[in-house]
Amino acid sequence: MAEIKREVIEQFQFEGTYTEGIPYGSGHINDTFRVTFQEEGKTKRYILQRMNTQIFLHPEELMENVEGVTSWLRKKIEERGGNPDRETLNLVPTKQGKFFYADTDGDYWRAYLFIEDAMTYDLVEKKEDFYESAVAFGNFQGLLADYPAETLHETIQDFHNTVKRLDTFKKAVEADVCKRAADVQEEIRFVLDREPLAHKLCDMQAEGKLPLRVTHNDTKLNNIMIDNATGKAICVIDLDTVMPGLAVNDFGDSIRFGASTGAEDEPDLSKVSCSMELFELYTKGFVEGCKGSLTKEELDMLPVGAMTMTYECGMRFLTDYLEGDHYFKIHREGHNLDRCRTQFKLVRDMEEKWEQMNEIVNKYR
Ligand code: ADP
Ligand code: MG
Ligand code: MG
Repeated sequence: MAEIKREVIEQFQFEGTYTEGIPYGSGHINDTFRVTFQEEGKTKRYILQRMNTQIFLHPEELMENVEGVTSWLRKKIEERGGNPDRETLNLVPTKQGKFFYADTDGDYWRAYLFIEDAMTYDLVEKKEDFYESAVAFGNFQGLLADYPAETLHETIQDFHNTVKRLDTFKKAVEADVCKRAADVQEEIRFVLDREPLAHKLCDMQAEGKLPLRVTHNDTKLNNIMIDNATGKAICVIDLDTVMPGLAVNDFGDSIRFGASTGAEDEPDLSKVSCSMELFELYTKGFVEGCKGSLTKEELDMLPVGAMTMTYECGMRFLTDYLEGDHYFKIHREGHNLDRCRTQFKLVRDMEEKWEQMNEIVNKYR
């Protein structure tokens, strides 16, 4: 973890005298610090982050996205009488009036107002937390429904271009650099048998049947702040992967990860299924949070979003396994294959529960 540099502290428009800076939170991507200032007996706190420029190669563009989205959210929250200091991230500008600072070592830094009296949680402890995260991400979608999504930069190119991902997968099978393909014929077949699924949402988007939206792309529980007093989600954070995309993919990735009864790398597949109870909770929360901003087609495609994101993710794990595990970190032999199998087990389970999933969506639309 990087240290905070004096040089950096002095660049931002923080109020008061700097008293403390400590590593903060449990994020895995950026180096996050909480910095404290004192002014006339009052304490002011901020979040200061060293951005991860290994992953995000264009920090300027990324910060343009964050700036655009947070200022939009601020305006919308003000309009509806909310508290914009707590219900969205707020960037602290530098003394030059910019929203990031590139230090003398080439590290990029940014700062936010610290959201007081709220917490993030790493694990879903109560089912209500999962529901709350659904409301928060739905609300995020709703507030940004008329944002000109096409003006956002694609911080990671073709992130959910499932057709392209399938292409990459086929090339990996063809090349078979680790000679592993023979042992995973069943999994390879699984992917190829479902080729139309890879095309479904991409085609609908290309035909203009699904609108381009502002998507978050990291809809984990620990990217929402939960109010300590009320237990309600108040704010969506971690906007690094905000990009133009499909609302159903944000929804789908949450289901993929959050509605599974097993861990993503569970070797015992009998433990892995898609919980209809959790699917229902998330659907209810997400649709409520969106407040009528989803189109008929988007609502129709929510289950397809869940299945596509799970299929795509399994395919990516399998691709990495075939290519020699250089993208996803592995902690044991066959780790990516285990991960791939949980995802395919989930897809199968969704196929079996397809009618029920659609009925659930119809109940809340
Ligand atoms: P990463 O991309 O590394 O996950 P995050 O932006 O999610 O980074 O920040 C890491 C953690 O820091 C969050 O999970 C949260 O606990 C805390 N955090 C981030 N921004 C704020 C904020 N504005 N106010 C309070 N806590 C924050
Ligand atoms: Mg995070
Ligand atoms: Mg992040």
